[in-house]
Amino acid sequence: MDASCVVRILGSAAGGGYPQWNCRCPVCTLAWDGDSRVVRRTQSSIAVSGRLGEWALVNASPDIRQQLLDNPPLQPRRGQRDSPVTAVVLTNADIDHVAGLLGLRERWPLRLFATRAVLMALAANPIFRALDETLVERREIALGVPFHPVTDVEMELFPVPGKAPLWDEGDEVRTDIEDGRTVGVALRGAGDGAWAHYVPGCAAVTDALRRRLAGTALLMFDGTLYADDEMIRLGLGPKTGRRMGHIAVGGSDGSLAAFAGCAIARKAYVHINNSNPLLVFGSPERCEVEAAGWLVAEDGMEFSL
Ligand SMILES: [Zn+2]
Repeated sequence: MDASCVVRILGSAAGGGYPQWNCRCPVCTLAWDGDSRVVRRTQSSIAVSGRLGEWALVNASPDIRQQLLDNPPLQPRRGQRDSPVTAVVLTNADIDHVAGLLGLRERWPLRLFATRAVLMALAANPIFRALDETLVERREIALGVPFHPVTDVEMELFPVPGKAPLWDEGDEVRTDIEDGRTVGVALRGAGDGAWAHYVPGCAAVTDALRRRLAGTALLMFDGTLYADDEMIRLGLGPKTGRRMGHIAVGGSDGSLAAFAGCAIARKAYVHINNSNPLLVFGSPERCEVEAAGWLVAEDGMEFSL
């Protein structure tokens, strides 16, 4: 049977990419040194296509141009102006998920799908007026209501615990908000294809979220940090993963433990920070998640549904 839908990982790293331009943490240093145990990664995004060959991006990363250069199916095919990319779906208004919209501003009609909270965050930032509203149509999507970003792909947005974007945090930061500022995406080929779920940012795995994701054919989940205190321990920054809105992978309250025992056919960590030892082939942390059946996503990986 032909796949009814393909998912391509355009960027598997968190904000900053891998290696990060100004970082010499132990994991980035391997990349700068050309160590064969690591591969470079661009910032967080996937592309989804059905049988007709149109693509919807889920999130537009600051590396969008590089990602389009690296992925021939997403390049122009005919005429003077062309792109098979006709839709962008946003999971939040974080810089690594929306800055790439500015790279898509060359008078190409796009449809932009997001929750009201995310569209309001964009509207409050005048730089996004560069995406002319007469060409780039904003479509507000309610949680739990199916929509078709491209004709033959069905998606649904669902709330996940998260926080306001870093640039819009204000004085008091809560990371347990489930009001549509951070969402996951359920997606499948139109018709009755198998569901996949994409959750690049998630502060906690609640029982409700675990019930929703159990049984999915493909889970792509937030793998930002391996350890909650990784950034602090390495002297890279003052924040825990939790404070940044990302549940850690490891530990008794991490995502690896949270999904143990869930019937999930394929599961891959995405949105991986450059400090995360999962990026290193053969590291103990990498071996641990692989033994539990997880893939560590790489740019260019493709999944058929
Ligand atoms: Zn680093």
